[in-house]
Amino acid sequence: MPRQYRITAIEAFPGIGPYRWCLVKLTTDAGLVGWGEAPLWSQPAQAHLGHIKHLLEGQNLYSVERLWRMLQRGPAGLGQAVEMALWDLAGQALGVPVHQLLGGKVRDRVRLYADCHAGVDWTREDFQERVQAVRAGGPTPEVYLPEAFGRRARDVKALGFTALKFDLDVPVAGLRLDWEDRSLARQEIEYMVRICAAVRESIGDTDFAVDCHARWNTSDAIRLAHALEPFDLWWLEDPVPPQNIEAMAKVTAATRQPICTGEALVGRHGFRELIVRQAADILQPDIPRAGGLTEFKQIAELAELYYMSVAPHHMSSPVATIAAVHLCSTIPNFLALEHHCLGIPFWNDVLRRPAQVIEQGFVRVPDEPGLGIEVDEDVVRAHMTGEVLRA
Ligand code: MG
Repeated sequence: MPRQYRITAIEAFPGIGPYRWCLVKLTTDAGLVGWGEAPLWSQPAQAHLGHIKHLLEGQNLYSVERLWRMLQRGPAGLGQAVEMALWDLAGQALGVPVHQLLGGKVRDRVRLYADCHAGVDWTREDFQERVQAVRAGGPTPEVYLPEAFGRRARDVKALGFTALKFDLDVPVAGLRLDWEDRSLARQEIEYMVRICAAVRESIGDTDFAVDCHARWNTSDAIRLAHALEPFDLWWLEDPVPPQNIEAMAKVTAATRQPICTGEALVGRHGFRELIVRQAADILQPDIPRAGGLTEFKQIAELAELYYMSVAPHHMSSPVATIAAVHLCSTIPNFLALEHHCLGIPFWNDVLRRPAQVIEQGFVRVPDEPGLGIEVDEDVVRAHMTGEVLRA
C-alpha cells in the first residue's frame, strides 16, 4: 500500500488568456503539487473549492476513478480539473508517469494538428469586427480570400505541422442572404471549393480538415460534402449539429468524405449513440469538457470497438495539453490532438518544464513522474483576468 497523503490547499487560477483557461493546483502534506485544467471559460466560485476540498478529505487519493465518480456530482468543470491534478499527484507519489497509470503508452510522441482559422489567426476582437462588417454587406475581408488561406497553410506547414484545419463557414458570411437560415447557396459552396483548392495546392499531400461549426441543414451539408470530395479532406467537421444522430448519420452515409463531430458533447453517454450507430467517422471529444481523462478513455475505448478514430478538440493551456499527451499516448485509435493556440505568444511559457512543449508538430510523451510538468505561476498570474481563489 503506497503512503497516503492529504490535500492541504486547493487553488484556482481563472481567466487566463483569450480562451479564459482555468488552472487548478492541489497542494499536499507530502510536499507534492498537482495541476489540472478546467473546461474553457470555467469560472469557479470560492464555495466550489471548499466543497471539493471537503469531498477529498480522508479519501484514498490514489483511487482516481472512484474519486471522479464523486467529483461528477460536484461543481461542473472543477471536477475535471481536480481529476487531472489527482492523476498528476498519484503519478508523482508512485514515481511513474501518468500514461503508465492509464495503461501505458502505445506511442512515444503525439501528433498535433494546427487550427489555422483562416488567412490569419482567430482573435475575439478582430473576428467580431470582421463578421459584423461582412454581415453589414461589406466586401469579403482579405484574410478570407482563398489566396490568404493558401498562404497561411504554407506558413503553418513550415512550422513542422503535418496536419492543419481551417474554418469554412466564416468566409462565406458575406455571401449569405440570411445568417440564421441553414441552407447553402450555390455560390457559397463554390467559394468553399475555391478555398479548399487553394489550400490543397499550397500544401500538396499534407492532411487538412475543415470545420463547418454545425451550421448547415442535412441536404445542403451533403451537397457540400460531395463538392469537397475531390480534395480528399482529412475530415469535414460538424456539417450539421451533432445532437440529431439520424441527421449526422445520413450525412456520413451519403459521402466518402470522413465526417467528424463531438467537441460539444459531454460524457460517455453523450457519445454512446453516435458511436454505436456509426453516425460519424471520427470523434473529437474535448478532454476537460467531455469529462476528464477517465471519461475520455472510456469514450475512446468504445470508439475503438467500432474502428473509429478520435482526434480531441483542444484549445487549452500547456497543462491540459501535456495531460492530453499522456492520455492520447495510451489510446490506439488516437489520430491527432488539436493545437488552437498558435496566436497566443505566451502559450509555451506557461510551463517551465518541459521548456519546449511542441517540437516540429509533435509533443514528446513525458516519462517523468506524474504529468512531468512545472508551471510558471508568474506567467499564469501575468495573463489572468480573474483573482486566485483558495480553500
Ligand atoms: Mg469545431
